[in-house]
Amino acid sequence: MRKHAIAAIPADGIGPEVIAAGLQALEALARRSGEFELKVEVFPWGSDYYKEHGVLMPEDGLARLKAFDAIYFGAVGAPDVPDHVTLWGLRLPICQGFDQYANVRPTRILPGVTPPLRDCGPGDLDWVIVRENSEGEYAGHGGRAHRGLPEEVATETAIFTRVGVTRIMRYAFRLAQSRPRKLLTVVTKSNAQRFGMVMWDEIAAEVSKDFPDVTWDKMLVDAMTMRMVLKPQSIDTVVATNLHADILSDLAAALAGSLGVAPTGNIDPERRFPSMFEPIHGSAFDITGKGIANPIATFWSGAQMLEHLGEAEAAKRLMRAVEKVSGSGLVTPDLGGTATTQQVTDAVCEAIRAEN
Ligand code: ATP
Ligand code: MG
Repeated sequence: MRKHAIAAIPADGIGPEVIAAGLQALEALARRSGEFELKVEVFPWGSDYYKEHGVLMPEDGLARLKAFDAIYFGAVGAPDVPDHVTLWGLRLPICQGFDQYANVRPTRILPGVTPPLRDCGPGDLDWVIVRENSEGEYAGHGGRAHRGLPEEVATETAIFTRVGVTRIMRYAFRLAQSRPRKLLTVVTKSNAQRFGMVMWDEIAAEVSKDFPDVTWDKMLVDAMTMRMVLKPQSIDTVVATNLHADILSDLAAALAGSLGVAPTGNIDPERRFPSMFEPIHGSAFDITGKGIANPIATFWSGAQMLEHLGEAEAAKRLMRAVEKVSGSGLVTPDLGGTATTQQVTDAVCEAIRAEN
């Protein structure tokens, strides 16, 4: 029996509701498979913990998480706690502390979801966006001089290292190679930014030599936004910098039809540390406690987690169950339905059990 230790951090708002749903589906998959088991420990960290203890997680938080194979994360953020406190207090220390340098966002139009693009349905849009998650524009390098004066100057320097760019590029090429179309688009802005972005282009060309079976092209980020809208079928795997991919992946989530279905993985491909999987949506306090949060993003990120843990069969089974249920019209209000979180979860668990 294979064993996987999962640290669950439900955190704030609808986080606990969707993580509870996700854990039920994972449990159903483990029982269905009979070949692996999940040992789940739930950590009560987040904004409520902050109000009591002055920190979002205890000082030895990372040391405790390190023992796990993966982290299943809900959402963090509360109306009465400043954004920078929640951002820097929990998610970012985990991403940085565990060097989760690949942020991976699969994007597909699920059955039962009405996407905003005309003539674009399930099958027309099947992407994975790989975001460099450790350096670049969000390296935090820069400063302000003459603060508040008319001559004030602020700098915001992007840091690109050969090691950092090479490792994300290799990850993206490997991922593209593992997908049926073996197609990669490398996104930069190397016409206007002459240093880091040109290095990205050069490293892409170097790394591509090790992946002769991958077809790849280069795209400027501005042109890429148009291509995503006008020719979604021409795209498969995408790699871009921290900032560019941040923007492109929000566009991708919108084109796929709903924030409530979009998942993400923060991955340490070398597996030195646990990777973290989460829905991309936030804590959504406007619907917290109503029992109507869409659990699909959390199911999907659970599938990403299973794949990372080597349980590819279970991951596929989970996505088949999700698609069966969404396609049947049993969906939450954000997708135009009337189902509750629990009804969708029960249906997905039943589909997992019932499948031959
Ligand atoms: P954050 O600052 O943490 O990103 P936010 O309020 O800016 O939070 P979200 O929490 O992602 O953004 O919510 C944006 C909108 O999408 C809200 O109206 C919310 O209700 C809706 N939403 C987000 N996630 C879901 C979900 N899983 N199911 C249904 N609706 C959702
Ligand atoms: Mg937000």
